[in-house]
Amino acid sequence: MVCRSSVRKNNLTTRIEEEGFRAVIPCERCVRLKRVCFRAECSDKCLGCIAGGGRAKCVMSKPTYSDAEWRKLVKMQQEIAAQRKESVSSSYAP
Ligand SMILES: [Zn+2]
Ligand SMILES: [Zn+2]
Repeated sequence: MVCRSSVRKNNLTTRIEEEGFRAVIPCERCVRLKRVCFRAECSDKCLGCIAGGGRAKCVMSKPTYSDAEWRKLVKMQQEIAAQRKESVSSSYAP
């Protein structure tokens, strides 16, 4: 899967809708707006931040979590991303 930064905004949002996953750790903007933070590996910004005009910084909110909880959340997020990669590549198998 090739991710080009030159993809147009509309394509990008469509791709995130199709390929994205719900972020375990929402970004600050989504937390503020109480929205689901939806992101994909092909973008460093979440759907909400791209739709919001792209000027918003997409930063994961730093926690109110304890250190251990935070690490657990980061790990969960990585696992979701890894699982998605697997399911994408396995769908190409004969
Ligand atoms: Zn977000
Ligand atoms: Zn964001």
